[in-house]
Amino acid sequence: MTTVTPTVAPTSPHVMPTYGRLPIALSHGQGCNVWDIEGRQYLDALGGIAVNTLGHNHPQLVAALQDQVTKLIHTSNYYHIPLQEELAKLLVERSGMTNVFFCSTGLEANEAALKLARKFGHDKGIDRPEIVVYEKAFHGRSIATLSATGNPKVQAGFGPLVEGFIRVPINNIAALKAATEGNSNVVAVFFEAIQGEGGIHPMHLDYLRDVRALCDANDWLMMVDEVQCGMGRTGKWFAHQWAGVHPDVMPLAKGLGSGVPVGAVVAGPKAAAIFQPGNHGSTFGGNPLAMRAGVETIRIMEAQDLLANATSVGAHLKTGLQKALAAELASGAVKEIRGQGLMLGIELSKPCTVLTQQCVDHGLLISVTAETVIRLVPPLILTAAQADQIVVILCPLITALLKETA
Ligand SMILES: *Cc1c(COP(=O)(O)O)cnc(C)c1O
Repeated sequence: MTTVTPTVAPTSPHVMPTYGRLPIALSHGQGCNVWDIEGRQYLDALGGIAVNTLGHNHPQLVAALQDQVTKLIHTSNYYHIPLQEELAKLLVERSGMTNVFFCSTGLEANEAALKLARKFGHDKGIDRPEIVVYEKAFHGRSIATLSATGNPKVQAGFGPLVEGFIRVPINNIAALKAATEGNSNVVAVFFEAIQGEGGIHPMHLDYLRDVRALCDANDWLMMVDEVQCGMGRTGKWFAHQWAGVHPDVMPLAKGLGSGVPVGAVVAGPKAAAIFQPGNHGSTFGGNPLAMRAGVETIRIMEAQDLLANATSVGAHLKTGLQKALAAELASGAVKEIRGQGLMLGIELSKPCTVLTQQCVDHGLLISVTAETVIRLVPPLILTAAQADQIVVILCPLITALLKETA
């Protein structure tokens, strides 16, 4: 195996060591390909962790952002920002919901959702509101969102955690009912339609419908974190739409701005009027540059029919992986290939984080999450030929790793 000579120092003297970084530095990209500062080419099957919806250097997005930079980058929410109205309208129309709050990141969108849920409770006389959250969930790294996260590693060292969360397993409506039975402090159920960081675990469609019914029966908010699985990744605008339900609150971020930081909380009628002037805000949230990125991302996605592309190329990729790993799936060495559209996870029977470097050595960018799950969340412009290329590079590495004596 060819091993990449590190092009950058493995440790940085000035940046905090919050990430275990691979020893490459990327310099530029085009479509689904990126190049490092030594000129080596990589196929990008990570897309900046489900962020680069349109890939790299998309000509229309670049032109729009260049235009916007010459007009206004930032003003302030003290004034009307017409581009906010424009992006909000696009999101409302595509979600069937009603109103949007803009911020800049996923955790901020989730933080706003948690505040909405608490105020929803206080407004109806619940002094100590409680929110149902899930095992293996990931909602961000602020104190409140890491408390909602179902991963002890994310929480370790940051206690005391925020209170008011009830944790349940996914896809088990009986467990949800049992955990909330007779508890009049419950105000919301909060979950990812497909858990991302937790290992690409989809909520079953009938479970989503059961949760919706339970929320309606009890006057709870159904809050679906679509930060990773939303914005067309699964082949519909939002992953919960496969179940034919509407949430009351939906945080978005990652893919919304194709790389420009944009977060949003979309609310339905039940949650749209909870925040009043003074209740919440963000200096950067909804600034003209971010809004232009969101508007253009949606326009380009539609012009290029990227929802259909996510569906068809995603299915092609999944089939290719299943074929190439058929023996390993049969033996149980590959436990499962999960996910929908261009949000796929391959769970192995053993830890596989070494694969990220091995893939780099072979010109492919992926990530491994939850230790044993290979995550593929490429740009939504991925072609079938590029999907084949992922299979050709990745599957032999998986097979070889699984053959190594445990
Ligand atoms: C990435 C992610 C977040 C956090 O987003 P940041 O922009 O990193 O704050 C929250 N929820 C989900 C589901 C995510 O995948």
